[in-house]
Amino acid sequence: ELHVAQALMWIERTNEKIQENKEYLSALDQAIGDGDHGINMARGFQAVIEKTSSSEYETVSDVLKDVAMTLMAKVGGASGPLYGTAFLKMSMSTKGKESVSQEDLAEAVRQALEGMKQRGKATEGEKTLIDVWTPVQELLEQSEDLQPEEIKKTAKDAMEATKNIMATKGRAAYLKERSIGHLDAGSVSSYYLFESLANVLE
Ligand code: ADP
Ligand code: MG
Ligand code: MG
Repeated sequence: ELHVAQALMWIERTNEKIQENKEYLSALDQAIGDGDHGINMARGFQAVIEKTSSSEYETVSDVLKDVAMTLMAKVGGASGPLYGTAFLKMSMSTKGKESVSQEDLAEAVRQALEGMKQRGKATEGEKTLIDVWTPVQELLEQSEDLQPEEIKKTAKDAMEATKNIMATKGRAAYLKERSIGHLDAGSVSSYYLFESLANVLE
């Protein structure tokens, strides 16, 4: 279950992971993109933390809405609108709920994924963060009494699997076959997001 306190912890832990790995995320993006993913995400989540740590929240939905608005405003590039859409959809999906159950979370992630796929005109297997969100969504939906470790493992395996995929969306798609052999930066930041979520669900 997710209450306001856990939702805030989720965002804080995600921010920590992103700040710690800012250089790494940019280096991954440097190899097959324009090298700014770490900078983009670090700037966005820094602003998110400034907003959420100075606000009072009654609902998980309101936390997620502020995250969405801040990411849309502060993160440029492809990832800003995508993550912004994800959090906005999760906010709308959890509206009116006092706490968010695994079932609610599965539905919220399903809607986030749908929104991102539309926004990015992307589907699974194109070497984007969709490749991490898809199996995590399926896991949340299919398993009862999910162990947090399973979420971490699913996200990690999916993130690692992007290495062997040829990009057909995003900047890496320009490289065609040469994009093979490199991890997708957005899939790594999405892995941090789900690893952090699993940590607060424990
Ligand atoms: P930009 O590519 O504009 O510099 P970022 O570097 O911040 O933006 O983010 C790049 C990440 O965004 C990629 O690693 C990929 O995971 C994701 N991405 C890019 N384009 C798309 C798309 N059309 N659909 C889904 N995800 C995408
Ligand atoms: Mg980039
Ligand atoms: Mg860029």
